[in-house]
Amino acid sequence: MSAVTLGTPVPEGSPVPMLVKRDPWTQFEECLTDMLGEMEKMLQTTSNGKKTITAAKQQKLKEIKAKLFDATDTIKRHTEDHHNSMPPPSMERANTERMERMEGDIEEIKKALTTITSAVTRTKTWADVAAGRGSSDIDAERAKQERLERAKQLRAKTEVVIGFHQATDEIKETLHTATDQYVQSTIDEHIQKITGSNIKIRGIQRPTKLTVKLMCRSEEEARIIREVDWAGLGGGKTVKQMYGIVIHGVSKTDVDANAKDNMEIKEILEAENDIKVARIAPLTRRPRNPQAPTQSIVLFTESPEDANNMIRMGLKTQDGRIHAAERYTPQCQIKQCYRCQGYGHKATVCTKAAKCGKCAGEQETRECNTENPKPRCIHCNGEHPAWHTQCPHRQNEQKRLEALRVIIPRQFGVVA
Ligand SMILES: [Zn+2]
Ligand SMILES: [Zn+2]
Ligand SMILES: [Zn+2]
Repeated sequence: MSAVTLGTPVPEGSPVPMLVKRDPWTQFEECLTDMLGEMEKMLQTTSNGKKTITAAKQQKLKEIKAKLFDATDTIKRHTEDHHNSMPPPSMERANTERMERMEGDIEEIKKALTTITSAVTRTKTWADVAAGRGSSDIDAERAKQERLERAKQLRAKTEVVIGFHQATDEIKETLHTATDQYVQSTIDEHIQKITGSNIKIRGIQRPTKLTVKLMCRSEEEARIIREVDWAGLGGGKTVKQMYGIVIHGVSKTDVDANAKDNMEIKEILEAENDIKVARIAPLTRRPRNPQAPTQSIVLFTESPEDANNMIRMGLKTQDGRIHAAERYTPQCQIKQCYRCQGYGHKATVCTKAAKCGKCAGEQETRECNTENPKPRCIHCNGEHPAWHTQCPHRQNEQKRLEALRVIIPRQFGVVA
C-alpha cells in the first residue's frame, strides 16, 4: 500500500506526485508493512531447515508476526474510517499524538528485527551452504581444506611426535612441571646418546600434557630421530601418523576387528590389497547390534597413499568381495571433555580448569556434592547438565562438525 493509492486519489495517467503530504495513519501502515516484510524475510531464512535460531525463538517470531498482522488490520480499518468521516479537530490531535508514540515503538521494533536478521545471516555455516546453495562454494571450501592439509603434511616432514601415554608416573609428573628448555635439552642428550651423532632439535611444542612435538632441522634428521628408541626416556614412543579408512558391512568371520591378535587377518588384507596395515579396529566400541554378522571396521595404515588407494579402489576381503572404503574422520565426531566440559578434546589431554557438568561448580563432575536439585550448564547457563543434547552450545558444535564433514577432502592430502 502506498500513500498515493490510500491518501490522495490520483487520476490515471497523471504523473505520480512525489511530495504528497501523507497522513500519519498511512505512514503508520507503511511502517508496519515494511516491518512485516522484514519478518517474512527473517522467517524464510530461519524456517527452511537451516535452523540458525532455536525452534522456541522461531515460534516466538511467528507469534509476533501474527500480532503485527492483527495490528495492521486494525490500523487499515481505522484509516478507511478516517477517510470516510471527518473527525473533530480535538480527536485528530489526540490521534496524531498517539500515532507518534506508536511510530516510535515501531521504529524500536524495526531496529531489533534488523539486528536479529543480520545475526541470522551471519551465523550461516557451510552446512547451510551445502543444504541450499550450489556445489561450487563447497568445492572451493574443500579445495581450501586440501591446501591446508597439504601444508600440514609438509610441515610434518620435519616434525617428530613422542607420546608418553605409557610412561611411568614419575616421568608424567616431570613432564607436567618441567620447562620446555629442560625437556628439549633432555631429548637432545638422549638423541645424541642413542644415535652417536650430534643432532640437535630446533625446538619443541607440547600439544598435550603427554605428547612432545620435536621440530627438527631437516627431513633427514627427522627421519633419524623418528627411529630413536625412547624407552630409556621413561617409556616414550614415537607417535606415527595414521591414516584410517572405514569399511562398512564386513563379515565378522572374515575380519574380526575385536580380536586381540588379528595378525593373520592383517596379513591376508595386506596380500589381497598390496598395502601395509598398521591396525584394525571396530568403528564403534559398543555397536547397536552386537549379534550382527557384519560390522564396520577402521583400517589404519601409515601410508596416506595406501589409504587413498583403498578409498579409490575399495578393499578386497578374503571372500573376493570388494568393499567401498571411505576416509575415517574422527575430527567430525563430537568430543566432550569430562574434566572441563569443553568440546573438541578429551580429559586425558585437558589443560583447563575442572568444571562440574552438573552444577557448573569449580570441581570435576564426579566430585559434585551440590544440594541444588536444578542442574546448571557451564556453557549456556541453562537448567541442564553440560552435555545435554538440547544445549544450544552443543548444537552449535554439532553444526560445526556437520559443516566440516561436508567440506573435508575425500582423500588424504599427500605431499611428494
Ligand atoms: Zn577439558
Ligand atoms: Zn557440581
Ligand atoms: Zn547448555
